[in-house]
Amino acid sequence: MESRVEEKLNEFHRRCKSNGLKITPQRIAVYKALIESFDHPTAEEIFKQVRKEMSTISLDTVNRTLQTLIRIGAAFQVEGSGQPRRYDGGLEEHQHFRCIQCGAVIDFHYEPFDNILVPEHLAGQFTILRKSVYFEGICNQCAGHKQIIN
Ligand SMILES: [Zn+2]
Ligand SMILES: [Zn+2]
Repeated sequence: MESRVEEKLNEFHRRCKSNGLKITPQRIAVYKALIESFDHPTAEEIFKQVRKEMSTISLDTVNRTLQTLIRIGAAFQVEGSGQPRRYDGGLEEHQHFRCIQCGAVIDFHYEPFDNILVPEHLAGQFTILRKSVYFEGICNQCAGHKQIIN
């Protein structure tokens, strides 16, 4: 697990450099908090985590840093997560399921979804940066709760 984080931090350094971005302690702290969290944290959750070691950081800085990470492709905003927005630093191919009741965003991976083709007429119209498959429904836990209530 430790080496996975280290590997991602190295990759992050490379990404910053190739985008002409300074590697600041704040950026590293925000990125680290993001990739160490496994449940698609909100900016607020990342802020709480980073503040433990960096008491001077503000939520505003965290928000701005997250936007920077998105811009250089080191993170992305989870589709359909609404408010508060949730972020993901897991760049390996995966898809999301979101529970409409508890709001949990759960990763899953189904290989055929990794290579969705962009229709030709769209490719001419837009520059596609990222493609994703996103499912919405009721998670097992919420479905279970319902049965108890009924
Ligand atoms: Zn649920
Ligand atoms: Zn994810």
